[in-house]
Formats: sequence, C-alpha cells, structure tokens
Amino acid sequence: MRSIITTEKVDVTYNPGQSNEFKALVNVSIEIAAREYIIFFGPSGCGKSTLLYSIFGVLAPTSGKVIVKGDSVYELDPVDFVMYQRKTMGIMYQSFNLIPSLTVLDNVQLPLIFAGMPPSVRERQAMELLERFGIAHVAHKRPSLLSGGQQQRVSVARSLVNDPEILIADEPVGNLDAVSAEAVMNTLDEINRNDKKTVLLVTHDAKYLPYAHRVFYLDYGKVDRIVANPEKRQIIKVRPGETIVTEIEQLARIYPYDTPEQLRVKSLINFLTQNLSFDQIVRLEKMTQHVIEGVVSEHQFQDELTTDYEQGGCGIKPPQAEEMTRRMFQVLEQSKDIVRFRRTPQAENTIDMARLELIKRIQVYMIGEYAIEQDSRLLERLTKMITNRVYGYITREECHRQLRLPIEDGGGGFDIYLAADLSRYLEKLIAQGVSHFQQHQEAKPDSNSIHAQQAKKFEEMDKGMFAKLAGILHRKKEAEAK
Ligand code: ADP
Repeated sequence: MRSIITTEKVDVTYNPGQSNEFKALVNVSIEIAAREYIIFFGPSGCGKSTLLYSIFGVLAPTSGKVIVKGDSVYELDPVDFVMYQRKTMGIMYQSFNLIPSLTVLDNVQLPLIFAGMPPSVRERQAMELLERFGIAHVAHKRPSLLSGGQQQRVSVARSLVNDPEILIADEPVGNLDAVSAEAVMNTLDEINRNDKKTVLLVTHDAKYLPYAHRVFYLDYGKVDRIVANPEKRQIIKVRPGETIVTEIEQLARIYPYDTPEQLRVKSLINFLTQNLSFDQIVRLEKMTQHVIEGVVSEHQFQDELTTDYEQGGCGIKPPQAEEMTRRMFQVLEQSKDIVRFRRTPQAENTIDMARLELIKRIQVYMIGEYAIEQDSRLLERLTKMITNRVYGYITREECHRQLRLPIEDGGGGFDIYLAADLSRYLEKLIAQGVSHFQQHQEAKPDSNSIHAQQAKKFEEMDKGMFAKLAGILHRKKEAEAK
C-alpha cells in the first residue's frame, strides 16, 4: 500500500521523567492510504486525540516518526512545516473554534489570507463553500447567531477552504443534537467520497463506525486492532480476517469496549436466551428507534417484524412478533404515567393524591401483566414498594429484595421468579418514563473529563493561531479598503 500517512513506532510521553509521567502512546505504527476514511476509536483517555494531533503536527512524538506524503513531519524546515499545516491538513473541532468577532464569511476565508489571494477570489471561494453546505444565507452574520449544526458546517467550510488533502476531526459532532450530528457526519462522508479527501476522525461513539473504511481501535495508548468495514468498498487491499465477518466482530460494534472473551460470552448468552441473530437485533433496534421517534405505528411495527429479512424486515415468526409488539407498546403507553408522575409537582405536607393515583395505576399494570392474586395486605405492601422505588427512595436491588422477602417479615412474599419479573417490569416503566422526561432537558457534555480538558488545550493552541490571523485579516481589509 502506498500510504499518505505513516507513523513509525510513535511514543508520546507526557511529563517525561516527572512523577506524573504518562505514556499516552506506545509504539504506534500505522499506515493510512490516501482517500481512506479512518476512525480512531476507543474509550476516553486511550490516546485518540494524542495520535490525531501528533499527525496534525502540533504534538511531537517523544520518539518515533510521523511521515506524511513521504516527509517526516517534525523534521520539516519551518517554511515547509507551515505549508504542511496549511495545504496538507484541515482541521475541525468539537467546539467549532470560530472567531466570534468575525462574520461567517470572514471566518471561512481566514486561512486564505496568507496565500496572497486577491480579496474577490478569496471571497468567491469561501462563498462557494458556504453555498455548498447550505449556509450562504448566513454569510454576513456572526457565528453566535447560528445554530450548533450551522456553526459546525461553517467550520467544515473553513477546514476545506485551503483544499487540504487530509481532513482531521476531533469529536466533531460531540456537541450537536442527533439530527445536526447526522448531517455533519454525512457531509464528512461526502467530502471523503466526492472530494476524495483522506478523513481522520476521532470518536468514542460506536454509532459512527459504519462511516469509516477502517477503524483503529485504541486501548491504553496502543492500537489494539484494525478492522475494515465490509459494507464499504475498500481503498486498500484487505487481508483475510480484517473485515467484520464473524459474529464476534459484529458484536464488537454493539459492545465496543468488551474484550474478545466478553464478546464470546455475549454470543453464547444470546444463543441461550433469545432466538434472534445479531443482524435481526440490529434491525430491531432501528425499528424500535422509529417507534420511539413516533414515526412508526404499532401496526407498521408488527408488519416490519414479520417481513422477510431480505426485504428489509426482521424475519421474526408471527406469534413472537405479535407478543413483542404488544409488550413494547404496552410498556411505552404505561410508562407515560411515570412521565406524568415526574411532571406532577410534589405537594408539601399533604397526601400527594395525584401522585398516589399514578402509583396505583402502575400497580394495576404490574398486576395485570403477571396475573397477581388480589390480596389486600399484599397489595398495600406492593403500593409501598412501588412508591418508594418510583420516588427513588430505594434502589432497584432493594425493591427486588423487598418483593422477595417473606410476608411475615414485611415483604411481598413473591417467589424468586415472580419477584424478578415484577421488578424488571417496573424498571422498564421507570426507564422509559424517566428517559422520556430527561430527553426534554438539555443534555450537557461532560466538560470536566480529562478528554474534554485535553481537547480544550489543543483548541487553545490553535485559537492563538486563528486570533493572530484574525488581526492580520482586519488590518489587510483596512489596507485594501484604502
Ligand atoms: P482520548 O482522546 O482517547 O480521550 P487523549 O489522547 O486526550 O485521549 O489522552 C490520552 C491520555 O493521556 C489520557 O489518559 C490523558 O490523561 C493523558 N494526557 C493527555 N494530555 C496530557 C498532559 N498534557 N499531561 C499529562 N497527561 C496527559
């Protein structure tokens, strides 16, 4: 393979020789071909960003080499090094890194100012990109007036304005809602396919793996394994065993952080507990997502479950499909009472009648599902347990324990199987109801994680550069206006 990027035995050690020395990359040797779409994947802290920024040229390895287009990046002379970062590399960040005082158009043409390009050409080039990404109408606005998705498209445009050969992206959709994230991921895919750029992307989110030609799994600073995506036509020749052909590789996508042993265990458990293949499960997940989004009715869902797998369905036998549909829609419907419970303000110093009413209804659902005998003392106990669990006064384990505890000891006296069923059913209602409730509260990224801090630091480094450029652009524009 003729590679565009090669790393040779790259080590990156932070704070070498000090008490807080940390080996972030250990002996990383990889090769990436031109036009490949590569994802660096792994848990937070495994070294993905370190590898990305080493390739970008801002983080020199402690030992080893980064070779891009035949040149050892950290041995380039200063002029070539500037050209390398400007002409070879384009970058986009999780938090966009746009300059708030400049318009969208100026932000995009910023990287062109050093090229000595006449302003009209510069502007036309930038405008073309804004048009391409559907944001030309906001060209003269400041970035802060744009949605997150629009800002990230501005940052895509900026990263492409120099027509770099390699586009690198550090968790580029980590701060976006699902719809904007998909739009940006599709844009990156298009840039890889149509513009034929090499794309390197860092993510810890497994759902984006299908975009890549190959995924480099990192763990503790090492490249653990490299897996080629069988659904994409490969750029390089793939050796046998490198594509996801086994069920274990398929499972690795669903449970990306599990070891091969844990995956074998999952494969066997799946065989023992359900008669669905992982292909069917993946499809079932997609269909279930459509139900949650409210775009598929109960009837359509059941229909899709029984449709042949080859025709896009799930290929599940009708009686099983019917039972699955019934249970799913029942849980979703009944969990609305958990949502109502959360929305009902807690009354002070009075018996909370509205909430008690909802608890009673949840109890009726559980009794109905498991045909429990209507013994008044038992029902009273059950009400208490459900109340405590729904309020969050006791844990799932404690609730389960109380359900099993003999009646004479103050428990529900259910046998182990019924106690497990009841507890599981209640947890499903709570999970659906609570997450429905939480979905409507804004999700906040974990800005305290080491990874976020690290990304921030790298961004700051780059921001300095962009701020300088912004100053130069202002002065240049003033000079041109005279
Ligand atoms: P990832 O991108 O996979 O989340 P990073 O490449 O950001 O991981 O970091 C890899 C490891 O290196 C982390 O455990 C992090 O704590 C450590 N690390 C990163 N930057 C520094 C630094 N400047 N000093 C010390 N340790 C660091």
